Amino acid sequence: MTPFTYARAADASDALRLGTDPGAKYLGGGTNLVDLMRETIERPTVLIDVTGLSSEIEERADGSLLIGAAARNTALAAHRAVRTRYPVLARAVVAGASAQIRNMATVGGNILQRTRCSYFYDDEGSRCNKRSPGQGCDAAEGFNRSHAILGASASCVATHPSDMCVALAALGALVYLQSSNGVRTLPLTDLHRLPEDHPEIETQLEPGELITAVELPALSFGARSTYRKVRDRASYAFALVSVAAALELDGNTVRNVRIALGGVAHKPWRAWKAEEALRGQPATAEKFRAAAEAELADAQPLRDNGFKVELAKRTIVAVLGDLKEMKA
Ligand code: SF4
Repeated sequence: MTPFTYARAADASDALRLGTDPGAKYLGGGTNLVDLMRETIERPTVLIDVTGLSSEIEERADGSLLIGAAARNTALAAHRAVRTRYPVLARAVVAGASAQIRNMATVGGNILQRTRCSYFYDDEGSRCNKRSPGQGCDAAEGFNRSHAILGASASCVATHPSDMCVALAALGALVYLQSSNGVRTLPLTDLHRLPEDHPEIETQLEPGELITAVELPALSFGARSTYRKVRDRASYAFALVSVAAALELDGNTVRNVRIALGGVAHKPWRAWKAEEALRGQPATAEKFRAAAEAELADAQPLRDNGFKVELAKRTIVAVLGDLKEMKA
């Protein structure tokens, strides 16, 4: 591990003041960043501990929920309003990691965790454009069973590892960002980037900018929502494919729907085409399948991950079928 200094921020302003060093990194629970530092993939000169920022989960008068960036994943999944009004989020967080990791991981840190592409972590023996821009990508022709089928580029085929973010994408979450220029919000779906020619640039964050909170807008049909994660073993594995969805029915007609996919792209993948295909349609397995086909029509599987295309379609159909039967 490369030597670094450590400072604990009292609040967001303090963190920004401490974060002006170009080598500074914000530290939440450290469940990803510390691993990356041990592997010398990340080499911050200054670590700024931001666990002192707000961890409050506030139910607001307009029906929205404001979640402080320092809220621990355990607290988020256990919160009554999350479990009852946004069960998709509670389920995604619980699916995300072991209890010990959830106890440490923060909401802000979860959003900014980096890919688990094994070539990215292999600093000694593999080429990786994300780790070393311009070097090449050994995953493209290598063992790429877990890699992306949507939105990838010749530069990078990695996936985003977060389960929580897939639920946030489906729920239309807003991310609050603070910098020396003030506060701004971004839809979660716009925060992460597709790799294009610069996979090393993973988000729209400006240098030094800090995530301070996440807003879940009121969602009248949020109670009828769920998350399904398909993985190689029952616990402590990243998603091959995951689906976060919420469904509003008018009789047997889809009035509204939200769908997002995980494990398939460089960012949490909001399934806009599938949603569009379903609104106003009968809530039948045939229509669910047609919507899934529309979303995956542009999939470009790699040598080892062609199975993900059908798996994603079937998981969408299964999740929507479950939601249709759910008593919300
Ligand atoms: Fe690196 Fe992306 Fe290629 Fe993995 S897929 S080796 S992260 S460039």
